[in-house]
Amino acid sequence: MRKVIMISACLLGLPTRYDGKSKPDEKVMRFIEKENVVVVPFCPEQLGGLPTPRFSSEIQGGKGWQEGAQVLNKNGEDVTRNFILGAEISLKIAWFSKPELIIMKERSPSCGVNYVYDGAFSKKEVRGMGVAAYYLKKAGYNVISEEDL
Ligand code: SF4
Repeated sequence: MRKVIMISACLLGLPTRYDGKSKPDEKVMRFIEKENVVVVPFCPEQLGGLPTPRFSSEIQGGKGWQEGAQVLNKNGEDVTRNFILGAEISLKIAWFSKPELIIMKERSPSCGVNYVYDGAFSKKEVRGMGVAAYYLKKAGYNVISEEDL
């Protein structure tokens, strides 16, 4: 049986990013071709009800997602609820697709696995996880970023 892998949609060339663009990743594309896997694309921010394009968002506090943290968009609006909803729906997708691996976009406030931005919209990276990556990993899934491939 072919392995199932969930992948952040923007890494597959789907235009789901805040700016309406994608971030196709050659390594990811080569990997899925070589391994002949079943791919389940997902975008937690769209699943959480945010429009595309949308204002970029960052997790406040400089530590990535932690329970009780807040996510603000560049316009100062609190979008924490959307990010949590996107993570919950991503968990449901993982539950029924049973992925062996989940590959997520590094530095995204939803998908970052090792790094995110510090919350000040200053392009400064900090160690920490995005909201959906945090909950998927906490649920026991094997979550890596495209840079870990
Ligand atoms: S939320 Fe994740 S999948 Fe969606 S655009 Fe951002 S990095 Fe890509």
